[in-house]
Amino acid sequence: MRIADLRAVPISFPVPAERSVTLGIGRSVKRDAVLVRVETDDGHVGWGEAHHGRCPGAIAKLVDTTLRELTLGYDARDVVGVWAHVYRMQLASHGMGAAAALALSGLDMALWDLRCQDADASLFRLLGGSAKPIRAYAGGIALGWQEPSLLAEEALRYVAAGYRALKLRVGDTPARDIARVEAVRCAVGDGIEILVDANTRYSLADVRKVMPAFDEAAVGWLEEPFSPLDRHAYSVAATLGSVPLAAGENHHTRYEFATLLDDGDVQVLQPDLSKCGGVTEAMRVAAMASARKLDVHPHTSATAINMATTLHFLCSIDNPGYFEGDVTTLNPFRDEMTDRPPYQLDGNGCVTAPEGIGIGLKIDQAFLDAHPLIDGPCYV
Ligand SMILES: [Mg+2]
Repeated sequence: MRIADLRAVPISFPVPAERSVTLGIGRSVKRDAVLVRVETDDGHVGWGEAHHGRCPGAIAKLVDTTLRELTLGYDARDVVGVWAHVYRMQLASHGMGAAAALALSGLDMALWDLRCQDADASLFRLLGGSAKPIRAYAGGIALGWQEPSLLAEEALRYVAAGYRALKLRVGDTPARDIARVEAVRCAVGDGIEILVDANTRYSLADVRKVMPAFDEAAVGWLEEPFSPLDRHAYSVAATLGSVPLAAGENHHTRYEFATLLDDGDVQVLQPDLSKCGGVTEAMRVAAMASARKLDVHPHTSATAINMATTLHFLCSIDNPGYFEGDVTTLNPFRDEMTDRPPYQLDGNGCVTAPEGIGIGLKIDQAFLDAHPLIDGPCYV
């Protein structure tokens, strides 16, 4: 079962103006994803997802050239061996930094898919887990910078759909952010968990202003107030209130998570399996977090592959936190790319993973053919 071919399949779809959402990284005008397809010499095909990194063509090029050159002929079942080889030859030495971690994440996911096919097993079985309900929050590209009353209406729709937690986009002005959080708390009552995500847009002065109100509204976490490199700001912000800080979707490999854990300022860890180094690395991050008595709340985007893989991962660790449900109103990568949905929400705010070989989903090649890469910005 040797790697005979490896290539990226970058895909896109435009977001019409009436469906676009504004958040701390801009207004969504397009969605991108980079799938990774690995074919073995005995005819098996495995699929993974690399995060697009806001430059899907570059991630695809890295997969199609460097990763391909490094891995052709390797035993596809030696997932840890291939990971270590790519890490040593690319991430640890010649660079491309985050881009290489994103590309490796997609490759790693595809190799786990092949390993599952070889073992005729679902992913959570191979990882030591079982099918179990996982708590979910309403996330994705939703609950953005709109008028508080409209935001409260949107939040109530997700509560009616079954979610018991939801994540608002902040990182606007402190006053507007506080008004949104207060309006949603007033609308949903005390029984629903409210989480907030600043998408790295806050200054320390902003955090000083919002923290008392977020404390008062019992916000469950404040996600990415700053860039992941801004460690000093995290250490100061951790002293400004009782709302836990969250981060991890822009941290890559266990080494960056080890630093995050050593710093001790972030209590909510959010590795994205399409960014941190794939399933292999996320399991290592989860083990490190378990030793600190911290739960893992993965970031998920953008397609059904990463969503279902993340759910299988959460079913396989002893410290699962929330699954990020994608309540984006328009996401054909979630709804149309595979033969069935990547997760099902039950009446208790929990989701369950699709069962079957691998992550339990089949990729629709015709869908991929119909959604070729669109160059240009995904947020403006
Ligand atoms: Mg985020």
